[in-house]
Amino acid sequence: MYRSTLASCLTDFPPRRMRVPASFRLSTFANATSSQANPWFWRLPAIAVICLIAGVIGFVMFTLRQDQEEQRASLLSDVLWLEQNLRFQFERNEELLGRLAQDLLQPGAVDEAALMRARQTISKDTAISQLIWFDAAQKPRGELPPRERAHSAQQQAAIASALQRARAFAKAAYCQVSNDANDMGGPVLCVAVPSYDGTQLRGFVVGIYPLQRLLSTQVAWWFSERYRLTVNDQRGHEIVSKSKVVALHPALSYEVAFDPPGNGLMLHVDTYSNGPRIVPLLFVGAVILFGVTLLWSLWMLLRHTARRHAAEQALQREYQFRRAMEDSLHTGLRARDLEGRTTYVNRAFCEMVGWSAEELIGMSSPMQYWVPEEIEATSEMHKRVLAGEISHQGFELRFRRRNGEIFDALIYEAPLMDADGTHFGWMASVLDITDRKRAEELARMQQERLEATVRLVTMGEMASTLAHELNQPLAAIWSYASGCVTGLENGMPHAQLGEAMQKVAHQSQRAGNIIRRIQNFVRRSEPRQDQVELTRVVSEAAALLESSARKRHVRITLAFPHELPGVAGDATLLEQVVVNLMRNGMDAMNDTPEGERQLRVSVSSNAEVMEVCVTDRGSGISVESAEKLYTPFFTTKSEGMGMGLNICRSIIEWHRGRLWFEPNPGGGTQFRFTLPRENP
Ligand code: ADP
Repeated sequence: MYRSTLASCLTDFPPRRMRVPASFRLSTFANATSSQANPWFWRLPAIAVICLIAGVIGFVMFTLRQDQEEQRASLLSDVLWLEQNLRFQFERNEELLGRLAQDLLQPGAVDEAALMRARQTISKDTAISQLIWFDAAQKPRGELPPRERAHSAQQQAAIASALQRARAFAKAAYCQVSNDANDMGGPVLCVAVPSYDGTQLRGFVVGIYPLQRLLSTQVAWWFSERYRLTVNDQRGHEIVSKSKVVALHPALSYEVAFDPPGNGLMLHVDTYSNGPRIVPLLFVGAVILFGVTLLWSLWMLLRHTARRHAAEQALQREYQFRRAMEDSLHTGLRARDLEGRTTYVNRAFCEMVGWSAEELIGMSSPMQYWVPEEIEATSEMHKRVLAGEISHQGFELRFRRRNGEIFDALIYEAPLMDADGTHFGWMASVLDITDRKRAEELARMQQERLEATVRLVTMGEMASTLAHELNQPLAAIWSYASGCVTGLENGMPHAQLGEAMQKVAHQSQRAGNIIRRIQNFVRRSEPRQDQVELTRVVSEAAALLESSARKRHVRITLAFPHELPGVAGDATLLEQVVVNLMRNGMDAMNDTPEGERQLRVSVSSNAEVMEVCVTDRGSGISVESAEKLYTPFFTTKSEGMGMGLNICRSIIEWHRGRLWFEPNPGGGTQFRFTLPRENP
């Protein structure tokens, strides 16, 4: 019974795969997402990355701004340099034209040398494309190179105005820019330089600058590479421009007055950015991308850590839960790997054997708790377990505690499987059954003692019967012995004396048999397996009860066939059964009318069993009594023990037979038992 109890305790072994209850998972995940799972220092990398990105962006913006400032400063200096350069060029040209005027405005015809110098003046260096010289009355005296078309009225007016001012201020004067269609290829600017002979005005030399030519010859190539230069009029309209810059969006502009000589002209310079600066932008983009990737991976890492933390907590709880469960068990648990090394023991097992878990883990065959005298048998079992030859029914072994005490252990072994279903060891549950075994042994001994008591009681009951039984042979012996004595005194013949002495011997043998039977019946002895003739057993039982039956007016009938095979068993015990059944039958007929008190004992056989049937005509057995008939101490008799039928059934079952009862069709009860026929 305790095996089944234990088996029910162990239905959970081997431990199944760990399953985390949903409540655990939810709660632990909530915990994991809390600050406990993400302490403040986890945020440092994110803060550092954000600072890095902000720093890089700031640095790049600062650099761009500084670039812009530098560009602006450079623009300013370049524009001022250009303006200075142009002014210087104009002043040089004014001097040149003044000297030329000396030659060109000589009275009389202009000599060839003067013309030559005039031609040389019209060059790229000066940017002058035409010279016109006037006398003091402002009449044109000559021009170089000669024009194909006359100046437009506007241009003439502009030249006239310049001549007036040159005359008025006695120095070079510049005209308004005229933008009329002319053969100069665009708007032109002219300068009128007066020439004096002492204080006497001799005339003027007018130099005409096509503005476009002026810009293209006087503005350095590198300037036009960097900037877009335009000359604007007073209203801000562009008159001419020079630039090789192809970009579209002006980044910086600067305007400087070109007056004089320009009469309200403005030099306007634009510097162009070549679109957004790719390298710093790429750099910033790369840093941002890098930072975002870093932040993302950090976030993923945090999530992963949080989940991992949650899983660890759940695992820890599950582990503690299992641990508490295992520690609360009184059953020892021991796990071993496939090589037989101990890998786990619970508290109950440690307490059972007396070694600590640290000492037990790693221990391999032969274990220290094996009984030294039984090492071979234990080792054999150990090997069978590892070979998987042990059934789940469990087996018993004896172990030795550290203090030397030996105890009986009931062991169940189950295979240990990992999550993939791989077999990686064995889990054993070990139950200390010493107390149970002791209790069993005690119960067995008590049963034996009880049986002995019953036998003694029966013997007591039988004592009077036996006294009567013995009385008969003793009386006969006394009678024969007295006859012999008298015969000897009277000289009785020897033959008659011998006959009488033989009868004495026979009666004493009979008395001895009765006593021996009593001894056998009462003595506690192991059942024997002898060849037993059932008819003889029944006859002797009947003989034993004969006088008691006579007293109680019971007629005993025996019925058996002539030839009957024997059975293997203990004749004394079987006789006890028959005696019990016959005595019960006689007891049951106490209230039966005297003439009907018949007790019939029959023996029969078939191919498999021999059967004995004891039939009485007694009171029969009620349904209530029938249920408790074989229960120890159940009796309906005032002086009964209630053990008879129980012992009878035990004896018959020990003989591999069966005992039962049926109502007798003619009234009363039939008790029957069968015994297997002896094998030939
Ligand atoms: P005891 O004879 O000491 O009472 P038993 O175990 O032999 O103990 O019998 C138990 C009871 O069974 C008896 O008290 C009796 O009531 C009932 N019993 C046994 N045999 C018979 C029978 N042949 N007829 C009627 N009742 C019987």
